Amino acid sequence: MPLRFYNTLTQQVQPFAPIDPDVVRMYTCGPTVYAFAHIGNFRTFVFYDLLRRVLRLNGYKLHHVMNITDVDDKIIRNAVAQGKSLSDYTDTYTKAFLDDCAILRLERPERIARATEHIVEMAAAISELEQQGHTYRSDGSVYFRISTFPGYGKLSHNDFGGMVAGARVDVDSYEKSDARDFALWKAPKPGEPSWDTEIGPGRPGWHIECSVMAIEFLGNTLDIHAGGVDLIFPHHENEIAQSEALTGKPFAHYWLHSEFLLVDGQKMSKSLGNFYTLRDLCQERGHSPESIRYLLASVPYRKGLNFTMDGLKSAATAIDRLRNFKLRLESAKLEAGLNERFATASAEARKAFREALDDDLNTAEALAAIFEFVREANTAMDNGDFLSQNRASALAVLQDFDSFFDVLTPTAPAGGLTEADIDGLIAERTAAKKARDFARADGVRAQLLEQGIILEDTKDGVRWKRK
Ligand code: AMP
Ligand code: ZN
Repeated sequence: MPLRFYNTLTQQVQPFAPIDPDVVRMYTCGPTVYAFAHIGNFRTFVFYDLLRRVLRLNGYKLHHVMNITDVDDKIIRNAVAQGKSLSDYTDTYTKAFLDDCAILRLERPERIARATEHIVEMAAAISELEQQGHTYRSDGSVYFRISTFPGYGKLSHNDFGGMVAGARVDVDSYEKSDARDFALWKAPKPGEPSWDTEIGPGRPGWHIECSVMAIEFLGNTLDIHAGGVDLIFPHHENEIAQSEALTGKPFAHYWLHSEFLLVDGQKMSKSLGNFYTLRDLCQERGHSPESIRYLLASVPYRKGLNFTMDGLKSAATAIDRLRNFKLRLESAKLEAGLNERFATASAEARKAFREALDDDLNTAEALAAIFEFVREANTAMDNGDFLSQNRASALAVLQDFDSFFDVLTPTAPAGGLTEADIDGLIAERTAAKKARDFARADGVRAQLLEQGIILEDTKDGVRWKRK
């Protein structure tokens, strides 16, 4: 079966085929940098990363653009309150966001585009829309007249036929029941940042930024446009209206949306105050970034995921089980030979893993295939049925797993020992033991323990793990 995705636009699971057969052009909506991102936001950003990885597993090259919204109502409110320039204020949170992405092992999009660096292009696009008769002005702001775009509602599958023509909305986020003409360009207000452009002074609305940057870098029609489900309306609906009015071409072929991370059944959000940042969970509560990544990746993206601390602990246990299995595979002394049954089981596990991912990123099923294999292989090792020539193919199963889930390598604690340091110290200890310098060997063990590294001498050699 080919790679396939659920497309919000068609409400169907469809085989994926990009316009250019080798390269996928993809745009994903990035963060609004007015505060630290929370792990609800990161569910969506992890989803983008998984999407990248499954596309690469299918042999595609990627041209992926993600925006940073560094001008909007909330940013301006906060920057003004703190007496900071817009860029001073947003630089802090942009850097924190990119650091957090790296900690969660999210692949970097090929291009990260900041809204404030594309104001001239946004003004030009609005001017073009004005010339085409899609806009009107009121009190220095420019609005998109949604009645001029007959396809309005096709992404969110709403019939906006009964809406009041000419009613306007100035805020960037609003409810479906509030479908109105939206602001492309907002009039300057005293004390707020604004830009002088060909369409007059002011600042862009949120929606126009994504349309303009996507078209600028990826062309009129994208293969994939993605975001969280809360962006379907109004943000993505408005993006389609602006872009397609501008170019006369379909804006994106596949629209993918990830469901929410929930707390007690409610969306994790800043406004509800029910959120955790990476800092809260890792620095203050001692959870590992891998556990968070695993938890966010383990539930298929179109299902709601309820966040609990127990869930995070289970994620850590699952990772431990896989790491221990890997250590066992690497260090076990196995009898010579090949057990055909396990050669087949490895191949089947790899196939089932890939098929689950190609099925609209069914990560739960992909994990089930891996754990089933680990269970069988562990039993076989206990029974002596697992032979030396089965090692490589079993390690290949884990390699496939980790090329996607990317959780097997432990994160070194800040300022702590790297894996190379640890391997070096273990080699030193082994040499000391050989030379019967037991004091030195014990000293190395104690030194490692102090750094949270536990050594285990097994009949197959030395294994280590982090406490
Ligand atoms: P924002 O920084 O508010 O623009 O949000 C950035 C991204 O996070 C958007 O794509 C949202 O859809 C997504 N998002 C916000 N809250 C959640 C949540 N609780 N679960 C999943 N995604 C979320
Ligand atoms: Zn966007």
